[in-house]
Amino acid sequence: MPSNLRIPLSSAVLFVSSRIDDFLKISDTSSLSVGRPRSVGFKVSGSVKRKTSLTVHSSKEPLELTAELKEKQKITIEEKDDTMDPFEELKDRFLHFKNQVYLENLDHYQNLSDIQTPKFMVIACADSRVCPSNILGFQPGEAFTIRNIANLVPPFQHGASEVSAGLEFAVNSLQVANILVVGHSRCGGIRALMSMKRADKSKSFIKDWVSIGKTARLSTEAVAGNLNFELQCKHCEKESLNASLLNLLTYPWIEERVNEGSLSLHGGYYDFTDCSFEKWTLVYRQGLEGGSKYAIKNRSFWS
Ligand SMILES: [Zn+2]
Repeated sequence: MPSNLRIPLSSAVLFVSSRIDDFLKISDTSSLSVGRPRSVGFKVSGSVKRKTSLTVHSSKEPLELTAELKEKQKITIEEKDDTMDPFEELKDRFLHFKNQVYLENLDHYQNLSDIQTPKFMVIACADSRVCPSNILGFQPGEAFTIRNIANLVPPFQHGASEVSAGLEFAVNSLQVANILVVGHSRCGGIRALMSMKRADKSKSFIKDWVSIGKTARLSTEAVAGNLNFELQCKHCEKESLNASLLNLLTYPWIEERVNEGSLSLHGGYYDFTDCSFEKWTLVYRQGLEGGSKYAIKNRSFWS
């Protein structure tokens, strides 16, 4: 992929569509749990942990044997779950952190107790599978983080929200150098956005929130409406990232710092079906080649 690509028209015209009234209903609230992975239990260092299995492979075992094994596995998991106090597990993890990490790096953590100087602000989805500290290795003090359903950034005109408050603090007080918005595969929030039906006036916090991404849905329908629903959702997951990056520029103090070169805006997309990560940077400057104010550079793919 060549660098310095201009943002596709589908992203650049996000704010001019007239079909906004078309959004309206989450037709099937169960869609929020679509893709729910199976769970299996296994032991690590003497403690029971749960591991998600994201793909279901076909089995070559005889059906009866497979069924028997699955039944045994189910019983084993249920026995473990019955006896497991999740807070005992958290207590063990915390004490491990204290002894093996905090006390081993006491000077660093004492400095952090006085001040934080993170280089990143990260906006990521609330989905339990996509913790940015987990997948990108952010350590305490490195990333000021906001997580919400579908990792959306509302425009400045939306008013107060936890995202706008977080942005104000991170940009104006902490003076972070980078804002990274991270999307991900099989996002239930984006699926809810793409599932909304017209003419449904029912109230839903989820519907109201994901409607922030309605322009991304419109541009997805415009360029990918011929694809099946799953692929449309995947397209919208990335489209909404670009919409969020453009929304960041509606905050005057963000636009000012981007213009003066002291703040960079980045998109990231984590695909947990194959464990890959795509990253790009939004360039915003008046008078870029071709008359556009926006361009994308430094697109890279980690796998
Ligand atoms: Zn999500």
